[in-house]
Amino acid sequence: MFLMRILLQFPEGLKAGALEAARKLKRKGHEVVISASPCYGACDVAFSEAEAVGAEKIIHYGHAPFRLRVKPRIPVEYVEHRARVGCEPALKKALEDPDFRKCRRVALITTVQHIGQLAEMKRFLEKGGKKVVVGKHGPLAAYDGQVLGCDPGSAVSAEGKADCILYFGGGLFHPLGAALACKKRVIAADPFLRKAFWLDGERERYLKRRKGLLMAGVSARRFGILVSVKPGQLSLEPALRLKKRLEAAGKEAAVLVSDRIEPEALENFRSFDFYVDTACPRLALDDWGRFGKPVMALADAELPVSLLEKAKK
Ligand code: SF4
Repeated sequence: MFLMRILLQFPEGLKAGALEAARKLKRKGHEVVISASPCYGACDVAFSEAEAVGAEKIIHYGHAPFRLRVKPRIPVEYVEHRARVGCEPALKKALEDPDFRKCRRVALITTVQHIGQLAEMKRFLEKGGKKVVVGKHGPLAAYDGQVLGCDPGSAVSAEGKADCILYFGGGLFHPLGAALACKKRVIAADPFLRKAFWLDGERERYLKRRKGLLMAGVSARRFGILVSVKPGQLSLEPALRLKKRLEAAGKEAAVLVSDRIEPEALENFRSFDFYVDTACPRLALDDWGRFGKPVMALADAELPVSLLEKAKK
């Protein structure tokens, strides 16, 4: 007999520790099943797998609690992960940057992996002569100063009190999301690469691509609206509303639903000439090159759709 059957879920970077986590729970008297599916974020909670194996609880590792778009069918415990990497080398690089030197007030943002270092980062930057502002988090993040690719709220709420925004963490997805949501410039201090760089070029490239997408959207005839059923991504109602508007504007449109939106799985839908992404913003921001067709984020689709509507009148 066991106390409870629990499904464990890990992002790729933490799967190496899955067996050890399972052992610990087993020693406490639980039966453990480990999800082998990819897990991309806090939005991605494996309710279907848990139900299929009769789990009474899900332990979701690596991410902070998240406001899901569906009512949790099984209790979820989030076990956050903190990266073990020093913050000083990358922040030092930022402090050496000539443009950053001119910024007296800095809005500091990061991901949940580094949120425990926020106070240390703040102290270091203050020692370097900066006034540091930590913004109130948005609707999906759990901590002030924390950003998600789908929630740059901490950057947006702080930018009015700052001369620039400093993102601490790896990758381009989060700082680019902040750069697109804010008017102030964003500098990334990457502790893994130990360097600091401005996001201006990435932002410009995205805006240029978005202009091209606008033209493609206006001339497209058949739209595929991508909807993920992941519990933190599901946007069926906005997708259906968009479909209606496109049809009223004389276009053909279909809602394409899947757990994971994979460009390769869309290849044989040859009829569509334009995709709108209502799922994770990463698809339109990072993965667009894999689609072989134009793909635009739902928020950006408003402009081409309203142009189509005006043209129809
Ligand atoms: S929707 Fe995308 S950005 Fe938001 S939590 Fe999920 S994986 Fe992260």
